[in-house]
Amino acid sequence: MRLGVPQITVAGRLAPVDWPALEAFARLLREFASVRITPGKVISASMEAGTMRLAWAGDAAEVRLAARDPSAAQNLRDTLGHLLDSTARGLAAGLSWPDAGEGSLPPNFRLARVAGVMRLSPNFLRLRLEAENIFFMARTGLHLRLLQPCDPGNPVWPRLSVTGRTVWPGPGLLHMPVYTIRAIDPVAGWLDVDIYLHGNGPTCAWARAARPGDRIGISGPGGGWLPQAGRLVLGGDETALPVIARILAEAASDTVGHAVIALQNPADRQEIDAPAGVTVEWLGPGEHGRLAARFEVAAAEALSAPVPAQVLFGGERRDAEGLRRRLRARFPSAGRQLSVAGYWDASAKA
Ligand SMILES: Cc1cc2nc3c(=O)[nH]c(=O)nc-3n(C[C@H](O)[C@H](O)[C@H](O)COP(=O)(O)OP(=O)(O)OC[C@H]3O[C@@H](n4cnc5c(N)ncnc54)[C@H](O)[C@@H]3O)c2cc1C
Repeated sequence: MRLGVPQITVAGRLAPVDWPALEAFARLLREFASVRITPGKVISASMEAGTMRLAWAGDAAEVRLAARDPSAAQNLRDTLGHLLDSTARGLAAGLSWPDAGEGSLPPNFRLARVAGVMRLSPNFLRLRLEAENIFFMARTGLHLRLLQPCDPGNPVWPRLSVTGRTVWPGPGLLHMPVYTIRAIDPVAGWLDVDIYLHGNGPTCAWARAARPGDRIGISGPGGGWLPQAGRLVLGGDETALPVIARILAEAASDTVGHAVIALQNPADRQEIDAPAGVTVEWLGPGEHGRLAARFEVAAAEALSAPVPAQVLFGGERRDAEGLRRRLRARFPSAGRQLSVAGYWDASAKA
């Protein structure tokens, strides 16, 4: 599904901001969007969620966002705020919108209900979640956050700030890990999430105990959208298995490429509905260490070829950071062809 004609425009202002800061912001933005900068100091960016335009003059920029629906517009507002603050701390505080919606629930939040729990394999559970009006979850992003209140009897949900950004209640109030939308039927009003039972994480405990009728917050979608290139190289561990399986299930039948997936337990292997031209390689117990190296070779080969390719990796944070650094250094103009992300953090405290 591709973005249709934008239906919502949101106009705002960023002040103060100098032009070198906006140029640095545009450099970050290139990893997520197609970016154009005119000699007249206008930055235009196009991404799955919609378009962004920042026209700079004096010490301020006029901002215009265009998206298909309010959820996608919120995604753009959050992306803008996040990237401005990644450029220079506090830069996003200069954003103002005529109607920021301060204090309200973000438009991309839904209170979902567990409709079913299915065991896929020894360490994977599939949860079907139902919620109203989730059409926006079926486009522009493959991932969502599963929002688990630390005090379920007194839930604290995200709210919009005075600068229009989503403010997360944070640790101690809301646990909010990212998961992949493995499948979705917005007409029937459900989506599936596959949860890897890695140990004693809060989400694993919640999923094990989940029963039909239980409530959970969901927010999204985020992350990249389905790759459109005819050649794919995908890699990751158990946490990336759902996104790899979804991408391959939805890829065009003439797509070619390679996927490499490492599993601690071979019994967690799933039947993957991949196009005939894509080979799926499974690494077994003790081979997680080979995953990044194996992926790097295949990704470098694909990015060096004249045929457009997209490569995606999800795995342990440090593995992903090393891979990302090396591949970005070798292929500095890869832009959105390359997506390498830490999906979990081995150094995080349980
Ligand atoms: C874009 C994206 C998509 C993702 N999609 C999925 C998905 O579809 N399915 C899925 O199962 N996960 C997915 N993940 C990974 C998931 O968000 C993390 O594993 C997350 O830490 C799980 O939260 P938790 O509440 O279980 O544990 P946390 O509270 O985050 O962590 C608790 C403890 O568990 C450890 N831990 C976390 N993950 C693992 C692991 N995989 N192996 C070993 N120890 C671990 C941590 O180091 C920590 O000590 C995705 C992550 C990202 C960024």
